[in-house]
Amino acid sequence: MVSTMRFQVPVKLSPSSPGDEYPHDLQLYQDVPYGEITLDELWEIGEMRLKVLSLVERIHLRKLTMSVSQRRAALVEQLRKEGIDEFAGLIDSPGCKSHTDMDIRVRRRDHVSHFVLRSTVAFNELKKRWFFKQEARLFKWRFSSLDNEGVRRFMCVNNFDFTPISQSEKDDIREHLQMSSSYVNDIDNTQFYRIPFSHTANLIKKRKVFVMRGEAFVPEQEMAFVLVSHFRRILISSFEFAREARAKLYDDERFTGIFANLENSIHTESTVLVQDQEIKQYISLSHLDELAETSYPLCMRVLHKALRKNHHLTHGGRVQYSLFLKGIGLSLSDSMTFWKDEFTKVMDEAVFNKEHRYTVRFVYGREGSRRDYQPYTCLRIMESSTVGPRDYHGCPYKYMLHDILEDELTDCGFNALEKSEIVKLSKDGHYSAACNKYYEIKHDCFNDTVFKHPNIYFNESMKYRTSYHHS
Ligand code: SF4
Repeated sequence: MVSTMRFQVPVKLSPSSPGDEYPHDLQLYQDVPYGEITLDELWEIGEMRLKVLSLVERIHLRKLTMSVSQRRAALVEQLRKEGIDEFAGLIDSPGCKSHTDMDIRVRRRDHVSHFVLRSTVAFNELKKRWFFKQEARLFKWRFSSLDNEGVRRFMCVNNFDFTPISQSEKDDIREHLQMSSSYVNDIDNTQFYRIPFSHTANLIKKRKVFVMRGEAFVPEQEMAFVLVSHFRRILISSFEFAREARAKLYDDERFTGIFANLENSIHTESTVLVQDQEIKQYISLSHLDELAETSYPLCMRVLHKALRKNHHLTHGGRVQYSLFLKGIGLSLSDSMTFWKDEFTKVMDEAVFNKEHRYTVRFVYGREGSRRDYQPYTCLRIMESSTVGPRDYHGCPYKYMLHDILEDELTDCGFNALEKSEIVKLSKDGHYSAACNKYYEIKHDCFNDTVFKHPNIYFNESMKYRTSYHHS
């Protein structure tokens, strides 16, 4: 007898035709697949998806300079070479031109295979993150193959209430659209969508869209951004359910064997190594302002900002920030240039050389006891800092007055809800959780690793950004 797996409760009970069940080649995988499948097929499609995701990672890492469409084309070519034509066709699809039995079968296998791997990684933090990254990339690449009709159908079948604005509306707000979307060359021939504020937080932060009465007006070029972000949020919130689904099958050896084999086939280490190399190449003086915005934890962002503004930091701040900079890979000579350039805006070079040069060299083990001092951990920053009114060091979630913390978060572009969540965690003494929330908002992702070190925060951010932005 052939073993079969019956999936969870159907969400749509009785689709009137198979095309209703799988109306589009691109899916958000929100509903649980239902029906029966043999264990052999389950294993086969789980393995196939794993192969696709591994290729996504490999192509992403090797072709960093390529555009999204070029990477998609490289993936399709490779899949065809390896005989994985059904996925190649899906990935290269303009949308939903036909609904043959074969189309529906392939879409269903895409759906089920996503769920199998989602459950496979649900209990392993590293592998879950790996899966999340590759799936988000794959979605983005696939979205880039849709034609206009494909995008419209995708929004329609997924019930996105994103209405295109009419010509007369466009005329009314033309000036604002032109100002906020200066990167759009031809406003007249560009379709703008009216989208609830909550879906466009990152575009708003980047000042790329015009907002009026709680709605953002997003040019079609940016719709991929909105929908990919939406997919990422769905994925983030899906893991809890995936854990439950897998836990229910815990006693059934037929499934645990499949999950265990698939899980063992996921290798995440290569990503870490390649990205570390990339991170190192990126650390230089000219990038520090940008990195402070994108990848510093708040404690270091506050120090960087204060130094740029006042051209000075008190001793505790100098040591905390110097060690962090050393930890991210800034060389001694760059570090010296950095501190000197700032301090000599408010003091003579001779004074700098006499009073501060020593500290910079000391941190790098070139003076005094010549020890290789390590950057401070969060615990050290939280516990051993004495922080006075002129100081900017210490952990801001612990030491900063709450209204000042709120101002800092405003300066980061956070909205009222985001600010209040962080301030509340800080008020309740959950400093690491506040830091984690800050990371999640900054990176538009989930993160359930508690940061214990500002440099680990930084490294994680860099790995995340190098992989996401090139995706
Ligand atoms: S928790 Fe650690 S990394 Fe985060 S702000 Fe505080 S000291 Fe910095």
